Amino acid sequence: MNNLRPSPLDERRAVFQEVVLAGTGFTHELSRGQVLRIVDLEGNQAVDTLFYNARNLDERYSANDTIRRQGNLYLTAGTELMSSEGRTMLTIVADTCGRHDTIGGACSAESNQVRYALEKKYMHNCRDSFLLALARYGRGMSKRDLASNINFFMNVPVTPEGKLSFEDGVSGPGRYVEMRAEMDILLLISNCPQLNNPCNAYNPTPIRVLVWDRA
Ligand SMILES: [Zn+2]
Repeated sequence: MNNLRPSPLDERRAVFQEVVLAGTGFTHELSRGQVLRIVDLEGNQAVDTLFYNARNLDERYSANDTIRRQGNLYLTAGTELMSSEGRTMLTIVADTCGRHDTIGGACSAESNQVRYALEKKYMHNCRDSFLLALARYGRGMSKRDLASNINFFMNVPVTPEGKLSFEDGVSGPGRYVEMRAEMDILLLISNCPQLNNPCNAYNPTPIRVLVWDRA
């Protein structure tokens, strides 16, 4: 990876820190100007993530607007994460992994059956983790609020022929991605529980979420 940009921020100055276990959903509100860091603690984890405008939950992350804006399929430092209203929601300001996916989607009971085996239907999956976290968040959000998501640290290369492949990860222990909120944001994470996919070496692991106030 050639686009690595470390952060100058000191973990001891973070105003919020939480470890999110694999298979767990998580919500957190960010104020405009705050900086969010997601740390891949053990490496090769997939962190399924969605963003909403905390003031207007109908405005949410848009993968296709983000891809079109930068003319590139992969997310990294410098990427502006765009909303369904064409506005910049967050800007990626640091990245020690180098590449993140936004086309692979989130795993679900249905995709577990189709990709792996019929009896995988009842395994934990990101779509259910998203919905459980939204229900706990308690502002009436549901399936209709799920859009195409980001998979931080996940490696889904696109071949010259345009094919997608889910590959062994490009991340490693302690790698992180950091982004600045350009509006008040609701963050929604499913730390992927997937046991059937080489992108996390068949071993889902915890992440750490940190937040800093504006510098
Ligand atoms: Zn998943």
